Amino acid sequence: MEVTYKSTRNSNETATASQAILKGLAENGGLFVPDSIPELDVDLNDLAKMNYQEVAYEVMSRMFSDFTEEELKHCINSAYDQKFDTEVIAPLNKKAGAYYLELFHGSTIAFKDMALSILPYLLVTSAKKNNVKNDIVILTATSGDTGKAALAGFADVPGTKIIVFYPKNGVSPIQEKQMVTQKGDNTYVVGITGNFDDAQTGVKNMFNDKELAKVMDEKGYQFSSANSINIGRLVPQMVYYVYAYTRLIVNNEIKAGDKINVVVPTGNFGNILAAYYAKEMGLPIAKFICASNDNKVLYDFFETGVYDKNREFILTTSPSMDILISSNLERLIYRIAGDDSEQNSALMNALTSEGRYEITADMKKKLSEFYGNYATEEETAATIKKVFETDNYILDTHTAVAATVYDKYVEATGDKKPTVIASTASPYKFTRSVMEAIDSQYAGRPDFELVDELNKLSGVKIPQAIEDIRRADVIHDTVCDKTEMEATVKSILKL
Ligand SMILES: *Cc1c(COP(=O)(O)O)cnc(C)c1O
Repeated sequence: MEVTYKSTRNSNETATASQAILKGLAENGGLFVPDSIPELDVDLNDLAKMNYQEVAYEVMSRMFSDFTEEELKHCINSAYDQKFDTEVIAPLNKKAGAYYLELFHGSTIAFKDMALSILPYLLVTSAKKNNVKNDIVILTATSGDTGKAALAGFADVPGTKIIVFYPKNGVSPIQEKQMVTQKGDNTYVVGITGNFDDAQTGVKNMFNDKELAKVMDEKGYQFSSANSINIGRLVPQMVYYVYAYTRLIVNNEIKAGDKINVVVPTGNFGNILAAYYAKEMGLPIAKFICASNDNKVLYDFFETGVYDKNREFILTTSPSMDILISSNLERLIYRIAGDDSEQNSALMNALTSEGRYEITADMKKKLSEFYGNYATEEETAATIKKVFETDNYILDTHTAVAATVYDKYVEATGDKKPTVIASTASPYKFTRSVMEAIDSQYAGRPDFELVDELNKLSGVKIPQAIEDIRRADVIHDTVCDKTEMEATVKSILKL
């Protein structure tokens, strides 16, 4: 079945999968969504016999229907290889009353690798399929993890350049060190004085700037996005939910057809939306448990039907979730509006002009599969300590937000269905917060000393990504004001 992609803001704007991947964003800020989600017409028991790459092919071939088998298998096999430190790619770990789906075994030790290790291949293949001659400039705003994962994925990929903007004071020291030490002749990293939403807004504005696009085209460039609004990121994320489900079958934890719940520590709403799409494809998921930190705009939205970003932006120990505009939520809004691009546009325009919108009662009813809650900083730290003490398993801060919210969900509902918790980062990426949560004696000690302490405590090998930055030199030190992002891009590309 051919899947066509449509803009959430204009149903007349359509694209093939490869065109949607290339563009990243539709016109006027719209996002590409599949016009329908094909059924995953393979028996779950048969999928249980497949490895990660094979499951990936089954899922992705249905969503990216204009890719040939050869093209897609080339992308999948190039992405999910020895860059991951385990053959199974995404291990499922039964701990503390849940199944932790470890999505941090790629080259930058956070779940962004699951999609960003394949996106460069999907993009280059898409460019070839569509006879694109321009160099692709990947423009990305990051709350910390996307930036490094995108840099690692695109470094030295011919025909591409990548420019990453991050909030100068809004990422962890290790996240920053990972980015500013990035090698590759085509990589650029810029800190901005502003927060993640400022970075994301600046990037979106450049995408929507027709004048800029013209100047770029004259110089042989065009933008594409590695942000989670690109469907080339969303679809690869559907894969691991299907994979996790089938491993539960293999491990005799469930039978094919049994319902499970998933818990997702959420920022831009990409990861949890991928789970929702997996369900639409036929995966038996009952509840989507959406976990937020103190920036609990999504929790308030699920409670009240009002999305309101007019509030204080709080810097937390789970910085990849410090977001007040969850871009991918628009795809869910579009769906619960009955795929009505006009209604969706009106709400998104209200978000831009007033910073808030309210959905109708009918739309709210369609959110019954979602449960939202949040974890405070104290609760998150307490969960890290508790799970370490009871299960000798060390969670990173983001995963601990999810685990805390899962506990609240079980307490509120008594629902004991088998539950997969998306474990989105290695504790080594947030070493300071993790170690201080376990014992206050670690406060104030140097970062890499804490890395060694974490290793002693957990017995988990120090990931290569951490060893790599211990001694690496800073290569990128550009900082600009949030109002100077476009000027910075122009100077990098010599426009
Ligand atoms: C990006 C990220 C998240 C949030 O994922 P979204 O898809 O943006 O909701 C959560 N945890 C970590 C570690 C991340 O890097």
